Amino acid sequence: MKLQFTLLLVLSLAFAKAQTTYIHAGHLLDTEKGKWMEQMTVTIENGEVQSVENGYRTIPSDADYYDLKDKWVMPGFTDMHVHMETEYNPHAYVQKYVDDPADVAYDSVKYAEITLLSGFTTVRDLGGSGINISLRDAINKGKVPGPRIFTAGKSIATTGGHADPTNGSNQKLMGDPGPREGVANSPAEGREAVRHRYKNGADCIKITATGGVLSVAKNGSNPQFTVAEIKAITETANDYGFHVAAHAHGDEGMYRAVEGGVNTIEHGTYMSERTMELMIKKNCYLVPTITAGKEVAQKAEVEGFYPEIVVPKARTVGPQIQGTFARAYKKGVPIVFGTDAGVFAHGQNAKEFGFMNEAGMPVMETLQSATITPAKILKLENKIGQVKKGFYADIIAVSENPEKNVTVLEKMDFVMKDGVVYKR
Ligand SMILES: [Zn+2]
Repeated sequence: MKLQFTLLLVLSLAFAKAQTTYIHAGHLLDTEKGKWMEQMTVTIENGEVQSVENGYRTIPSDADYYDLKDKWVMPGFTDMHVHMETEYNPHAYVQKYVDDPADVAYDSVKYAEITLLSGFTTVRDLGGSGINISLRDAINKGKVPGPRIFTAGKSIATTGGHADPTNGSNQKLMGDPGPREGVANSPAEGREAVRHRYKNGADCIKITATGGVLSVAKNGSNPQFTVAEIKAITETANDYGFHVAAHAHGDEGMYRAVEGGVNTIEHGTYMSERTMELMIKKNCYLVPTITAGKEVAQKAEVEGFYPEIVVPKARTVGPQIQGTFARAYKKGVPIVFGTDAGVFAHGQNAKEFGFMNEAGMPVMETLQSATITPAKILKLENKIGQVKKGFYADIIAVSENPEKNVTVLEKMDFVMKDGVVYKR
């Protein structure tokens, strides 16, 4: 009886016809070669690309079919620096004390959907309260729409450092947060902080190697970790299969982070030639976040948008970022796409392409920096960043050639993730 049932199950599985989806793509980007292929047919089954063929294949009349013959079709983009839990506004500093975790969670659901609809099918979340971990799980289980998330959970800082969660609080609320809350002041505490992230379910580690613009603290660029502390963090992180991202504006803290073995430098504002050379040598990537730099410089001029202590930092740091990116790119520093969305409105991530291009990077290379390059860092080079057999069916499309008009990337016409269409 049991055998019969098993046999029946096996047979029915074998004959159950998987739903096949077909796409006719007028122009399809090969991100590996950096070339457009013309008139292609993409076949999708079970959320993965089944085949990519030359020419427009005949489609069965009852099939699930998308006509993208007049579109420029690409693999979904990856933004390596977002904050899915928050979006800056003049009330952000008070919200921290007013909002309950559930309020933050509802907001993050909204931001996740906006991000996905703008063509970003994968993101790396570089710091929140830990709600970003639950958000990732909810998206993976199909409860809410959103990009595939790799999250650092809570960032790791030193006391009073950029990601100390009680900066700017009154003395009663300030307390003395430790490794569990993401504050570490020695190599041992650094290791402990990483292990807490592992326990909480993070996918990678973020440290704040220097001061930051938007924290309620005076200095935006001082070094905030010792090399020994950073080494303890990166070595422990590697034990757990995590890579490490370091927020850094000032050069000394940045150099220490690269020396200590981090994989990406976020912002990189005052990067020296010496640090660039070390990054090239150690294959450490710069995540430009030019969009955030532009935004903070602009909002610093809006009366009352930021607390007084933040305004001078936003005015000086913000405008530097694009120039640094231009120098780093020219020098040959490895670049991977990332925006710091959340510092500006979610869904505007694609503005970064235009800013990178304006600073001297050809559009095709900007597209590669948001597809095949992040795939390598996230160890998903066989799953994301290409429209190719066996890859996740993350497919997006715009109505013009982005090499001719880069701003078209801000107007996404079609978004598919894991074979499911979210926008058409
Ligand atoms: Zn950030």
